[in-house]
Amino acid sequence: MAEPIEQVNIAVLGGGMTGLLSALFLARDGHNVTVYERDDTNVPATADEAFDQWQRSGVAHARQSHALLARLRSILGRRAPDVLEALAEQGATELSIERTLPAAIDDRTRRPGDEELALMCCRRLTLEWVLRRIVEAEPCVTWKGGADVRGLLATDSHVHGLQLADGDLASDLVVVAGGRHSPVLSWVSDLNGPVAPTEETHPSGIVYLSRFYRLNEGQEVPVLTEHGAGGDLGYVAFAGFYGDNNTFSITFGVPTVDRELLALLRDAEAWEAVIRQLVPLQPWTADGLASPITDVEVQARLENRIRRFVVDGTPAMTGAVVIGDAALSTNPWYGKGCSMAGIWAESLSAALAEHGRDHAAVALALDQAMTEHLEPHYRQSCRQDGDRMKLHSAMRSGDQPDEAASKAREFVHHGLLPAVRSDPDIYRKFFRSFNMLDHPEQLMKDEAVMNASLEALMTMDQRPPLPKLGPDRDELFSLLT
Ligand SMILES: Cc1cc2nc3c(=O)[nH]c(=O)nc-3n(C[C@H](O)[C@H](O)[C@H](O)COP(=O)(O)OP(=O)(O)OC[C@H]3O[C@@H](n4cnc5c(N)ncnc54)[C@H](O)[C@@H]3O)c2cc1C
Repeated sequence: MAEPIEQVNIAVLGGGMTGLLSALFLARDGHNVTVYERDDTNVPATADEAFDQWQRSGVAHARQSHALLARLRSILGRRAPDVLEALAEQGATELSIERTLPAAIDDRTRRPGDEELALMCCRRLTLEWVLRRIVEAEPCVTWKGGADVRGLLATDSHVHGLQLADGDLASDLVVVAGGRHSPVLSWVSDLNGPVAPTEETHPSGIVYLSRFYRLNEGQEVPVLTEHGAGGDLGYVAFAGFYGDNNTFSITFGVPTVDRELLALLRDAEAWEAVIRQLVPLQPWTADGLASPITDVEVQARLENRIRRFVVDGTPAMTGAVVIGDAALSTNPWYGKGCSMAGIWAESLSAALAEHGRDHAAVALALDQAMTEHLEPHYRQSCRQDGDRMKLHSAMRSGDQPDEAASKAREFVHHGLLPAVRSDPDIYRKFFRSFNMLDHPEQLMKDEAVMNASLEALMTMDQRPPLPKLGPDRDELFSLLT
């Protein structure tokens, strides 16, 4: 094992979720970290001010619903428990298994390991605001706001710094965490290294729409119903998200092909009428419960994307690594991005601890971490999106739906989900998979899960039909016109 590097100068491009978590873990490992963030903003005084006023133009999705999965909570618990404590102090809440266990499950006794099965509930900007204050207070971190990085400073394919709008900066290691719009692929291609970086994309097939609410004076946070806080009506999916400080949000995933529905839901008045038709959200839309605090926020052009900077075992560059959404992103509907930011930050910390100044070994270690721990989520997301898009387009064209995609949907809705809702063991395994605590393929390889799901599928006729969670598409439009 190489000597661990001490007080190495690391330049982190981007102060979003991945940049913040990496800066925190690397600084606490003993490195000197400078974060170069293009947005030039002061940190607001409170979480509510952050939500109302923080100009995070570099993160267009800052005011979209974010589910913060148990994997992120577990990483923070291990690496930075003070972040969890600060989040709790700032009004974030935990959604423990006692609150999420489906109502039909009678055995509600707590079990060993249940402490891991909890999500954090807060607005993304609350998490970012808490992290930013903690990161900026770290003695080994320097924050450079208003720093517009224009490219990599390199000799041949070895990167030794960053080109900024107002001059060059030398650094021992560059960490590119510039988010999903980062032009880093062309920067690295322009280095003409021993291999060219690659990119693969797959459409998510959805547009993401969110609206946030605050509870009115004296009102209580809505409880989860027997249907949970979301559903899939076939032509659209929806979910309620708990926030912090008496806030919550409601989100739709609208198929990109359904322009009419998209236009309808962009209209705040129609939005309010539609959400009142959704059975699982009835407690969330009760009269007098809450008032909207945002418009309907829309986020389009969402895709699954993987970029490789190590090809056939050869790094395209040394001295720099690309992490976070700049390297790999998945459909946000699955809520994985911030947990992946945590995995990247941990992997980078481990790679530096093991390989120190051996830049090629660090690049290879990160590529291996991506392949083992992140790419399986990308592949799963592409598969699920591909199946759903086939069903949506058949639904719209009136064609026969794709057989494999229909079978997969039937298995989930009539096999897996009924098993999950009725069996405490299956529920826990499903929760672990959904929350990235297990490898994404583990659930479907689990014999008990498969047996319970197949049994539920085969006995579906003996159960009452699945409850209707909302109007069908035609009903919805006729209701609103
Ligand atoms: C609509 C939507 C909903 C989502 N919902 C969820 C969810 O429910 N749960 C979840 O876990 N994840 C969710 N995600 C994903 C999650 O938000 C991202 O994965 C996460 O933000 C990635 O962090 P990042 O640091 O890589 O990029 P970002 O957070 O986007 O940060 C990139 C940063 O780099 C800065 N930057 C960019 N270029 C430069 C430059 N040249 N110079 C200097 N600075 C630069 C930007 O200003 C920005 O601050 C969602 C994403 C979207 C789009």
